[in-house]
Amino acid sequence: MNGLLGLLFPAHCAGCGRSVEANLDFCGDCEEIMPFMREPLCQKCSHPFPGTHAVPECPNCHEAGFAFEFAVSVVQSRKVVREMIHRVKYGREIWLTRPLAGLLRRGLDDHRLRGFSIDALVPVPLHPRRLREREFNQAALLAGHLSRANGLPVCDALQRLRYTGTQTALDRRGRRQNLRNAFTLRQNTDVSDLNLLLIDDVLTTGATLDACAAALLEGGAASVRALTLARG
Ligand SMILES: [Zn+2]
Ligand SMILES: [Zn+2]
Repeated sequence: MNGLLGLLFPAHCAGCGRSVEANLDFCGDCEEIMPFMREPLCQKCSHPFPGTHAVPECPNCHEAGFAFEFAVSVVQSRKVVREMIHRVKYGREIWLTRPLAGLLRRGLDDHRLRGFSIDALVPVPLHPRRLREREFNQAALLAGHLSRANGLPVCDALQRLRYTGTQTALDRRGRRQNLRNAFTLRQNTDVSDLNLLLIDDVLTTGATLDACAAALLEGGAASVRALTLARG
């Protein structure tokens, strides 16, 4: 915003609410403490890896055999980012998905995604019951903002069949088991030969993205990568 509009509607930092210059989503302080992912990382799941070199695959990825080629995350799910995601999900501050999508967009500059042609963005779906409870799917909102910013189409290709309930009580293996067959292609959706980019807010174990990628590949997708705003 600028000029008269800027005076009428002064811009505020999405992280802390302080006034900021027009067109800025975050103040300098929030930008400074933004927990951006930094190499060395596992190149497959973006897990921060101790040491000096990036590794192609961490032990967990090796064991899991994820269906997606790799998952890029922009920030760690800490500090201001974690708070903002909570404000969206539980405080229903849906407007925050726009500045969060601005952060998400920075992930497209990751060296793993650069030069890779993307045919469509695929948001990770919520189960219809969860969608009714929450009234919005934050992954779909993020994908929509990203699409408007860079012109990539959104393909709402997936549906979630089973209500998996809360996952927090389960260990890693249990989560994967719980998610197996939970995702499937929507009827009359054709993803054959498409290079797809899955979009979600947070990657925790990778099991959700894995199940989504498996469903898309089974539907004939040429490749599936993933981009999430944060990594738990
Ligand atoms: Zn701030
Ligand atoms: Zn990994």
